[in-house]
Amino acid sequence: AEQGVHVRRTDLPGGACLLTLREAAPGERDDLRRRGQLLATVSHELRTPLTSIVGYSELLAELGDDELSPEARRLVSIVRRHVDRELQLVDDLLTLAHLDGPLMPPERLPVDLAGLARPLVRGAADEIDGVVSVTLEATSVPRVAGDVHGLSQVLQVLLSNALKFTPPGGSVVVRVRQERHEVVLEVEDDGIGIADHEQPHVFEALFRGAEAVRRQIQGAGLGLAIANAVVEGLDGTLEVESELGSGSVFRVRLPAMPADTTSVIAVPTQR
Ligand code: ADP
Repeated sequence: AEQGVHVRRTDLPGGACLLTLREAAPGERDDLRRRGQLLATVSHELRTPLTSIVGYSELLAELGDDELSPEARRLVSIVRRHVDRELQLVDDLLTLAHLDGPLMPPERLPVDLAGLARPLVRGAADEIDGVVSVTLEATSVPRVAGDVHGLSQVLQVLLSNALKFTPPGGSVVVRVRQERHEVVLEVEDDGIGIADHEQPHVFEALFRGAEAVRRQIQGAGLGLAIANAVVEGLDGTLEVESELGSGSVFRVRLPAMPADTTSVIAVPTQR
């Protein structure tokens, strides 16, 4: 906060903390880089054994009924569920360490957000199977400069939050539209909502709302921090509007690419 530089501090387990590099004062940068590298290394080291636990439990689950009792099968599936959650957590930490670190700039290719949203929304609707209604309202929009992986992750985070924070019978609507020079991607739900005083904190790593904790809704508080870092890395913004008890809207705004960009990129071998 000295020299008028705003440093965003995100506390992590074990006293570690992530500071957004772009906003750090010059003297802090080496320290930040080391912390980011430590987090990346530790996450990576944790990932390897977890991946083999997944592999071995898959092999175990494939054993026939003569080799695996029903009780053993049940235990294997519990191991699998826990290790999947752990792997997701480690992957989220790894993503966050990379997004926060002094890394390569994100890939910038033309992405059609409406096209990207369609299969993801359909997949989510299939998975939730009518417990919450999920719909997509999309118009044809200009492309945005981004990477498909990062943008998919953003939509996945917003969608899965909307679904997990919306009780059965509720509805989730995903919208994609153009507003002047921006493409807007919006995920609206009529779920539990977020208290006014919590809204400024939801994009901080490890923040979890009081209602989320009280209702014992699963999560580590990393999803929105990741989504926010991806969107900011693409010169966009992520905003929230919400009312406790009524629902939430999360809105991504990204600069639209000029209309002729698509055709240039679509014919890369043209001479
Ligand atoms: P997690 O979902 O793992 O808790 P996130 O970073 O994705 O972590 O979200 C942080 C917090 O923001 C959540 O714990 C919850 O309090 C709040 N939140 C996020 N999305 C929603 C939503 N759609 N409705 C209500 N609360 C939400």
